[in-house]
Amino acid sequence: MIEEDWWTQFIDFIREFKLPPPVEAKSTEAAHIIRRSKGFVLVGDNLYKRFASGILMKCVTLEEGKDILKEIHEGVCGNHAASRTLVGKAYRSGFFWPTAVSDAEDLVRQCPGCQFFGKKIHVLAHNWITIPPSWSFACWSLDMIGPLIVAPGGFNHVLVAVDKFTKWIECKPIVKISSDRVVDFISDIIHRFGFPTLSSQIWVLTSHRSLSGISATILA
Ligand SMILES: [Zn+2]
Repeated sequence: MIEEDWWTQFIDFIREFKLPPPVEAKSTEAAHIIRRSKGFVLVGDNLYKRFASGILMKCVTLEEGKDILKEIHEGVCGNHAASRTLVGKAYRSGFFWPTAVSDAEDLVRQCPGCQFFGKKIHVLAHNWITIPPSWSFACWSLDMIGPLIVAPGGFNHVLVAVDKFTKWIECKPIVKISSDRVVDFISDIIHRFGFPTLSSQIWVLTSHRSLSGISATILA
């Protein structure tokens, strides 16, 4: 049974090499505490768990951990994600507590919203209709690559646009990620290659598979 103040034994051992009173120095439980304490770091009075990537995760109480999971699952930006996703998001946000996985499973199992709507099929009533690019410079795929190794001039990101029909590539290195730079980049393309017909102009924002930033497609 993991208790609310689960980190006390690790703090005591890291700070003073002290084991909890009933634990014998050469017992299996002592070896367990000593081995596990190597994965923790004490910064001031706060305990942090060292993640595999080297990032330190703040240790929270079991109660705080449940609140964090609840907020991620059904809070303001909650999307009723599955338990593994919940734990991943909590860890990536920099929080750690030992019962995160079982807490997330319990939360999803007991969530009324998930019980009522989990099995509902969330797909569109009809198939996607694809719009094939059938003429040049009418449909652009936009993306941003980076962060890259800083080049002379401080450039560390690249805005890229590829014409879907001809595969013509336009790119522009940038120093700072800002909407102004993107607007300049797009307006330069529009001035050189023409603007899509207003009546059929559609802007679609899509997330990209691996590159950071926003990928946008202009369809005309
Ligand atoms: Zn739910």
